[in-house]
Amino acid sequence: MSPTLVLFHSNLRVGDNPALAAAAELGPVVPVFVLDENFGRPLGGASRWWLHRSLQSLGNDLRDLGAPLTLRQGDLLDEVKALVHETGATRIFLQHGYDPSIQKGEAALHKWGVKSDVEIKRFAGQVLFPPETIRTQQDKPYTVFSPFWRACLKQASFGPLVRCDTLPPVAEQPLSLDLEELHLLPSHFDWTPSLAEAFTPGEAQALETLDAHLDEGLRSYKEMRDHPGHSPGTSKLSAHLRFGEISPRTIWHRTQEAMARDPDLSCDGEWFLRELGWRDFSYHLLHHFPSLPNAPLRPAFENFPWSQGPSAELTRWQKGLTGFPIVDAGMRQLWQTGWMHNRVRMIVASFLVKELLIHWREGEAWFWDTLVDADPASNAASWQWVAGCGADAAPYFRIFNPVLQGEKFDADGTYVTRFVPELAKLPKKFLHKPWDAPATVLEEADLTLGQDYPHPIVDRKQARGRALEAFQSIKAEKPRGISA
Ligand SMILES: Cc1cc2nc3c(=O)[nH]c(=O)nc-3n(C[C@H](O)[C@H](O)[C@H](O)COP(=O)(O)OP(=O)(O)OC[C@H]3O[C@@H](n4cnc5c(N)ncnc54)[C@H](O)[C@@H]3O)c2cc1C
Repeated sequence: MSPTLVLFHSNLRVGDNPALAAAAELGPVVPVFVLDENFGRPLGGASRWWLHRSLQSLGNDLRDLGAPLTLRQGDLLDEVKALVHETGATRIFLQHGYDPSIQKGEAALHKWGVKSDVEIKRFAGQVLFPPETIRTQQDKPYTVFSPFWRACLKQASFGPLVRCDTLPPVAEQPLSLDLEELHLLPSHFDWTPSLAEAFTPGEAQALETLDAHLDEGLRSYKEMRDHPGHSPGTSKLSAHLRFGEISPRTIWHRTQEAMARDPDLSCDGEWFLRELGWRDFSYHLLHHFPSLPNAPLRPAFENFPWSQGPSAELTRWQKGLTGFPIVDAGMRQLWQTGWMHNRVRMIVASFLVKELLIHWREGEAWFWDTLVDADPASNAASWQWVAGCGADAAPYFRIFNPVLQGEKFDADGTYVTRFVPELAKLPKKFLHKPWDAPATVLEEADLTLGQDYPHPIVDRKQARGRALEAFQSIKAEKPRGISA
């Protein structure tokens, strides 16, 4: 039997991997990962670190099953052609991807496969509900989440998870690069140890993280998911999902099982799966509007009066030096750990686009570089949502007040003082607005504003007025050519 090449990209797992399982049933398998940096948007620094560690873990798992991972770098099609030639493979199996850069690769492979008599077969697995299968009654894509999710739930019936316990190897392994030769890790200054302290990439950890969430976090998920200082917090599965170390179906099935075992978990479980639905919704949008990472879904925003030119304010936002504690805590959490709590992502994003009037694409790009879960769909869709120019977007007059948000969701200051320790001695009353503290209180807290911690970067009242004016200057229109 001729071997099957199985191409991995954003599905770095052996469990519930339909492409791998189908190949294993047919005979020898050659698992392959090609790093093609000319395809699409280059990965950010934090994602490169995650990918390195994830490939390491996948390589070990595949070797244990019998078929080592072959690593290549270069043009995807050229590398695949070379491997077909070297191994005599007649089939290429892969997971169908909804990221336009992956789709470009798939299209090139398909075109070549037809000419060369090599079977190219794509399998589901990236999302729960393939974007092309969820349509409005008018046969259009959805642009509002709630009806989208209702339509999804009507179709929610998934077969059992697939698995393979052994992978028949080829007689002669093709040459593989060493993982280090992909140069995914930083070459000069190694800033990754703090990421490694916060996260362990790989499938085994993804499954453990899910189990821990179902055992400890799920019970209070709906109530506490907005509180960034609360432990156990949200699942922290996002980067594992981004790299496909766990399938969304696995999360779906295990959550349903947990709810069946303990009906008290139903409400939290459904809420958790709904969040997973937001991930599907983001891919739904990206699939139907491939320009999502670059262009506003609401065309009126093309004329939005963003502030122009290089900005010291952007740098202060990136470094967590805005003088607004919850914003700074979020930006420092991101820098230190490669991840930020969802509530705080909304606060810092709103602050950038509304208080500072800096283009959402600047924020999206910074997140792309620094998040371990930087995702082509969720990142762009979420930034557009906050900026008010996306699907089902927050209305322009919804401007998160960082003081009230901090007081509501981090009332005891656990989160802010973890990442902004210079404020630790301030009484709780002033933690989210140190500028209001009387001089004696600041002195007792060993805090000199402008020296130990910055003065606020903007006068919020003025900034809010400026933002409302700017947002009113463009007419809110429906997203491009769609209805919900
Ligand atoms: C400005 C901004 C940028 C964002 N960028 C990204 C990104 O690049 N990658 C990313 O995965 N998420 C992004 N999100 C969504 C969300 O913040 C993260 O998915 C979430 O914080 C991940 O933590 P968790 O795994 O503990 O989430 P949980 O609350 O445990 O949720 C479970 C899973 O559901 C999905 N999910 C939850 N909320 C959302 C959401 N609002 N949109 C899409 N999927 C969601 C994630 O895959 C997550 O792992 C962004 C949100 C904002 C406001």
